[in-house]
Amino acid sequence: MELNICHLYPDLLNVYGDMGNILILKHRAEQRNINVNIVNVSLGDTFKKDDYDIVFFGGGQDYEQSIVSEDLIKNKKDALKEYIEDGKVFLSICGGYQLLGKYYTTPTGEKLDGLDILDIYTEAGNTRFIGNTVIYNPKFKETYVGFENHSGRTYIGKNLEPLGEVKAGYGNNGEDGYEGCIYKNTFCTYFHGSLLSKNPELADRLLCTALENKYKTFKFPELDNSLEIKAKEFIIKRETKKQG
Ligand code: GLN
Repeated sequence: MELNICHLYPDLLNVYGDMGNILILKHRAEQRNINVNIVNVSLGDTFKKDDYDIVFFGGGQDYEQSIVSEDLIKNKKDALKEYIEDGKVFLSICGGYQLLGKYYTTPTGEKLDGLDILDIYTEAGNTRFIGNTVIYNPKFKETYVGFENHSGRTYIGKNLEPLGEVKAGYGNNGEDGYEGCIYKNTFCTYFHGSLLSKNPELADRLLCTALENKYKTFKFPELDNSLEIKAKEFIIKRETKKQG
């Protein structure tokens, strides 16, 4: 078996080692004898939706986001929309998450158009939300930990599920108690580099969904996640204690 992962704008949107998420997907796939190819797609490139099984879109600064916003709309919008609507696997972090929505207004008031695929919008606040985060997803009965750093406040529409309910940290906007969002097989979050390293359940959910889409039946043996879970539990304990 083989999975093709597309990394969108690795040269522009890759803060806090967001790319580590791809390395984790690759490692966890290879442990199961699944071959992984990684393809970089950036400015001026077209996006060929049938070439990929998983797409990864990282976060970044407002300036880089403004360049990416223009290129997305000019060169990739329709194909990305079809890819997401087809139920293929997409993981989007922070700045990438914001650009899947209607718009992102930066702290200087610049309005960056998004792809308008997800019913979300983002407006910058006066402060940045920075720190470790803990969220709980009641449907999957899973807790995810991560690190957030964003000025954007994101509001998600009623047809979207959040990735989780905030137990520690700020999440989408610091008000409604939600973090990230899920639409079909598109998973969005403000969690940076550590997302999949400390949340192996989520990494396997992405891999399994991509394999189901491609092969229907497949073997997917369990891996030893004890170190990852230990790291996660340490953060849950520390961060929820801080909250009182
Ligand atoms: N520039 C965006 C914000 O501050 C996204 C930041 C990021 O990707 N870390 O909200």
